[in-house]
Amino acid sequence: MSDEFKVRFWGVRGSYPTPGAGTVKYGGNTASVEVCAGKHTIVLDAGTGIIPLGRALARTKRAGEILLLFSHLHHDHTQGFPFFVPAYMPGARLHIYGPDGTHESMKNVLERNQSSETFPIGLREMASSKDIQALRESQVIVWDEDGVRVAESALGVSEDAVLIRIHKSYAHPGGVFVYRITWRGKSVVYATDTEGYVGTDKRLVKFAKDADLLIHDAQYLDEHYRGQLEGFPATQGFGHSTVTMACEVAASARVGQLVLFHHDPSYSDDVIAGLENTAKTLFAESTSAYEGLEIDLTPDVSPARRGEKMPMRLQSSVTHGRDVQYAQNG
Ligand SMILES: [Zn+2]
Ligand SMILES: [Zn+2]
Repeated sequence: MSDEFKVRFWGVRGSYPTPGAGTVKYGGNTASVEVCAGKHTIVLDAGTGIIPLGRALARTKRAGEILLLFSHLHHDHTQGFPFFVPAYMPGARLHIYGPDGTHESMKNVLERNQSSETFPIGLREMASSKDIQALRESQVIVWDEDGVRVAESALGVSEDAVLIRIHKSYAHPGGVFVYRITWRGKSVVYATDTEGYVGTDKRLVKFAKDADLLIHDAQYLDEHYRGQLEGFPATQGFGHSTVTMACEVAASARVGQLVLFHHDPSYSDDVIAGLENTAKTLFAESTSAYEGLEIDLTPDVSPARRGEKMPMRLQSSVTHGRDVQYAQNG
């Protein structure tokens, strides 16, 4: 159990939750991903997916110490936190880290989300102990036998420590943190809420180089992004990627697997399945994230993928998805 390195998806939707008959396959909860590295539990973002995750954690010893990393503080990445059960547990210790600013400014955002006008229970009234810190891109997070700490470099970090590096993307309103979590030689990169550039986001490609798993924003069909999808405005500049942009980063960075993440709330299961098919033609090892998806990165269990990837074909445009149906909330 404590040798496992697993990534589980609890919320995969962007912008707002989307319950309903058209979204049961991939799920309607907003962003939240659990990473278990040995006995350490890291949670990426607190969209509504963190609510069922919290209930599951509360039944285990893992609720005792949790590292919660915010990519940024937009509503779809924070709205589940007031309902996160471990936050109410007196014995639980939460390390809540997020993008730059000051510790105070980050705490203020979370407090405002639970002000008396908007929520009955304030942040301070939640019984867990909370270590809230705003980080800088140059810093690293280390979790080893001595606990969780923020360091200025990875020098001297033990081989068995969980090491988390930060990349700041400016391709989203207000900026966003991309995290790379490495443990025992395996790594996962979480790159949500970021928009691709013409010719690929080269800084991100460098940051994600050779990762075993890349979780990348793929909110839009290419024709939607370009304004060629009937009934939908163009979305260039909104801070989210197309499926092609996500595949370009995955291919250029030579990652092992790509998970398409932050699905558009107007897309039904059929649309997302089509989007996944398109992705597979661009980058073979692609999967559309769904609630309940679990990826095992445990060393010696997941196949050594580096250097043995399928030939891949990159296209400049995608024609798929015209004939798909949209969810009734679209
Ligand atoms: Zn978002
Ligand atoms: Zn956002």
